[in-house]
Amino acid sequence: KNTILQVERLQTEFTNDKKKVKVLHGVNFHIKKGEVLGLVGESGCGKSLTSLSIMRLFKGTTARISDGEILFQKNKEEEIDLTNIPEEEMRMLRGKQIAMIFQEPMTSLNPVMKIGEQLTEPICLHLGYGKKKARTHAINMLENVGIPRADEVINEYPHQLSGGMRQRVMIAMAMSCNPQLLIADEPTTALDVTIQAQILDLMRQLQQDQNMSMLLITHDLGVVAEMCDRVVVMYAGKVIEEASVLDLFESPKHPYTKGLIASVPKIGNLKEKLSSIKGRVPTPENMPEGCKFAPRCEEAMPICFQKEPATKAFKGNRHCSCWLYDDEMRDVSV
Ligand code: SF4
Ligand code: MG
Repeated sequence: KNTILQVERLQTEFTNDKKKVKVLHGVNFHIKKGEVLGLVGESGCGKSLTSLSIMRLFKGTTARISDGEILFQKNKEEEIDLTNIPEEEMRMLRGKQIAMIFQEPMTSLNPVMKIGEQLTEPICLHLGYGKKKARTHAINMLENVGIPRADEVINEYPHQLSGGMRQRVMIAMAMSCNPQLLIADEPTTALDVTIQAQILDLMRQLQQDQNMSMLLITHDLGVVAEMCDRVVVMYAGKVIEEASVLDLFESPKHPYTKGLIASVPKIGNLKEKLSSIKGRVPTPENMPEGCKFAPRCEEAMPICFQKEPATKAFKGNRHCSCWLYDDEMRDVSV
């Protein structure tokens, strides 16, 4: 099988004041082996919750997966459903087979632990290395991600490093056990443009060297164009379009995707936020009837406010859910 991860009808909900609030409304997508899949959408569309659901990192929240499957190809023979394996098994998977990088390394690095200790811990746990071998491996990893004087940095604390260097440490840590799948949630958003480009280069290079699969979560379509093979666009807790990067930029189908592409900031103005789509992402408590994008959509038709469009398949392995294409849709509901 050529697929490393298959997310099927994923539903995740929170409980607020004893009321259940669904945030992911049946998310479907897959990641192929060795592929970089972009997951895009404005903030509040459910991108991060999707990645946290895959990792089952819900600690300190009321979130829980209420339906669906997350099938992970653990090895040649074995496919497991991450939604129902025991926590113990999940813990062994995290960091070893599936690693994750977050936007702000300070939230995932321990401020009172030396870089070296933080790096060697998962290496000892997952690879079974002794202290000395783990330390050598950690230094190698730091060198691989372009950290100068790695043998000194290993004895330093996170606050002694710049933001860019901390993110490199996070990448070294994520890659240290050679994961099959790397989930990177806005890995460069907090960094300035030059550093951002360097980190993205590094990630792409490591990804290609190891033929690793990657789920890259970003609101930045520039990053998608640079890095990804295919793209999944999320809106209001659902996937609304899926296509290769080329197809998506050349001929976006969904009005939301068109709006995102139209609002990509021009070069030289990279700090500008996505703003050209009027209105806001609906909150989970106030989901509109019908197409969730209808209140913001300039092409909305009466049916859009009544009935949600199904997700259908198009030529070239594309998917889109929008009533505009009802005629040319093949009847392959997903
Ligand atoms: Fe716009 Fe209707 Fe398509 Fe929704 S289904 S994106 S409202 S045209
Ligand atoms: Mg997010």
